[in-house]
Amino acid sequence: MSHVQWLEEFDNRMGKAAERVRFFHAPGRVNLIGEHIDYNGGLVLPAALHIGTTLMIRPRQDQWVRLASLQFPETGEASIHALPEAKADVWTDYVYGVMQELAVDNKPVRHGYDILITGNIPNGSGLSSSASLEVVVGYALMTMEGYAIDRTKLAVLSQRAENGFVGVNSGIMDQFAVSQGKKDHAILLNCDTLAYEHVPFQIQGYKLVIGNTKKRRGLVDSKYNERRSQCEAALAVLKTVHPELEYLAHLSPDAFEQAKEAIEDETVSNRAQHVVYENERVKQSMTALSQGDLKVFGELMNASHMSLRDLYEVSCTELDVMVEAALAIEGTLGSRMTGAGFGGCTVSLVKEEAVPAFIEGVGAHYEEKTGITPEFYVCEVGDGVHECSHEATITEV
Ligand code: ADP
Ligand code: MG
Repeated sequence: MSHVQWLEEFDNRMGKAAERVRFFHAPGRVNLIGEHIDYNGGLVLPAALHIGTTLMIRPRQDQWVRLASLQFPETGEASIHALPEAKADVWTDYVYGVMQELAVDNKPVRHGYDILITGNIPNGSGLSSSASLEVVVGYALMTMEGYAIDRTKLAVLSQRAENGFVGVNSGIMDQFAVSQGKKDHAILLNCDTLAYEHVPFQIQGYKLVIGNTKKRRGLVDSKYNERRSQCEAALAVLKTVHPELEYLAHLSPDAFEQAKEAIEDETVSNRAQHVVYENERVKQSMTALSQGDLKVFGELMNASHMSLRDLYEVSCTELDVMVEAALAIEGTLGSRMTGAGFGGCTVSLVKEEAVPAFIEGVGAHYEEKTGITPEFYVCEVGDGVHECSHEATITEV
């Protein structure tokens, strides 16, 4: 749709008014490598995608905030003086949650607005449509209200909205990547200290292909909590050898090899091994990417998948089938599950010419083995949240 058609859509839903409609966009994100180590003091390497969430906003003369989305039938209407205090289990929770957190940060929304959302991130697939929504809402409202924006604070505030109002216990990586993303760069992030660095992600001749297994993630919360307590158990034992050790991921592979015998439980030892080596792989990825060595980066992606599958045990048949099929395609440099696991998406680095064969070959093989029709998204690494110029076109949903 053209910009003019979007404006017509806005007027159809919200009614006409003299004030200008402004457009904002926040990306989705994919984690390139560094999985399940954020809560172990490790480094993650996410990147913002070009698919994302677009928000159209127009000031109102009264105190009402009115909300609509092209992807969901529910609408919202709330007075800025009496925001809902409890969630209603609809998408508008994310918006009210962010508004509440803005007020906590002394940046209350002081005017009424009409807001229309549209997005093209598949929901619930681990590409963070929720973080994208939160961050675009926060950024747009702060811009409209004339507040200075600190992107790291915006990420933290959005995460608080998701943890608190919405009640989903997620880490900071998603909101951080959505907020701080940079075109053709990945973000090296320490989720504990929020220290970060933009790492060039120059993949000329190659494409990032995201494969959606369409497998619904079940039991993720209990498995996640189990992994966390196993990591705590490993840390407690390793502390008897290295009393100064604060986080598992701070241990070097060499130090781990020397100390690992202290861990009697094999499962716990495997979990720790994943964390230590995955963190090392993130560092090696950074070097490889800075040198433009995509082959090495691909190999690190493959090693990451095997470790998540065999040592951390957070993969599933669907993810494994998709990764295996991806690696069978000539032109695939690397492929791995991305996100929490047990379903969701894979990310692969594929030679540009091979992308059609990849989508067809992996799709057919996956469907034959699992009976599920997957989806593929050929992604560009885009910018973090921003206001769009009036000429900007919105990606078709
Ligand atoms: P993920 O973040 O992995 O995509 P979540 O379950 O955390 O999955 O978030 C998905 C939810 O975010 C949706 O169910 C909806 O409530 C909200 N959301 C995402 N995109 C939109 C959109 N375009 N319009 C309205 N709500 C959205
Ligand atoms: Mg989410």
